[in-house]
Amino acid sequence: MKIIYTVLFFGILFEVHSQTYTAKEVIELIKQNVTCEWQDETVDNIKAGSGDTKITGIATTFMATMEVLKKAVIENCNLIITHEPTFYNHFDDLKMLETDPVQKAKLAYIEANNLVVFRFHDHIHRTSPDGISAGVIKRLGWESFEIAKSMLFEIPKNNLKGLSDDFANLFNSEIIRYVGDPNMEVQKVKLILGAAGSRAHFNAFMNEDFDVLVVGEAQEWEAIPYVADASNIGLQKGLIVLGHTDSEEAGMDYCADWLKNFIPNLPIKFVPSNNPMKAGKVK
Ligand SMILES: [Zn+2]
Repeated sequence: MKIIYTVLFFGILFEVHSQTYTAKEVIELIKQNVTCEWQDETVDNIKAGSGDTKITGIATTFMATMEVLKKAVIENCNLIITHEPTFYNHFDDLKMLETDPVQKAKLAYIEANNLVVFRFHDHIHRTSPDGISAGVIKRLGWESFEIAKSMLFEIPKNNLKGLSDDFANLFNSEIIRYVGDPNMEVQKVKLILGAAGSRAHFNAFMNEDFDVLVVGEAQEWEAIPYVADASNIGLQKGLIVLGHTDSEEAGMDYCADWLKNFIPNLPIKFVPSNNPMKAGKVK
């Protein structure tokens, strides 16, 4: 809703244009600004709260955890735009944990603080450029290394352990792991973010030329033993598993900037959810 009002300032009349938005209006603007057609079958919808809620600010995040919701409240942002689910399954089906105290507490917190949680997953990936990929490439500083927009990169020479350590430092992560010879030289890197599944991983191994595949998640009986075996028979192949969060989170930082292009006059902040997993240590 657009409000125009006048103020008297040192005797001069000023017209002030102020814009207020409901959650529904923000979502409508997102639909208008993605470059793909909005699908009927999608997980991109409101997961909790009312579309009629007047929005005080937007927090974008990778995952709307309790910690993120509390940070959003402190920032006075009552629309949370999350890439991944809020209620622990892909469709945010509340039935699975209907009587569970964790889910109940989360729903109660959302209601008590007048929050709206909207998932933005399918269409941020389908828009051009893919907002998640664009944000991650920017965070890595790899914009000039990409070979023909294929998520294949030619980076300055490194070795497998060195690249894995670089990711750990960049994402401040304890849980980045690699498979393969730590000293193998790496220069061509393929990125497959998130949990794309083993078919995508094997398609890349069979059809593309790279030294190391970097993924969000990999099944421990699929790509991981495959790369272990490839290394064992003498092939120069490596795999780095970042974890889903670190492989995609920067995309929601990019999303905050993207929203600012068409939603002026509303605070928009990226709230990192960070990876909640820590590493056990050998004593
Ligand atoms: Zn994703």
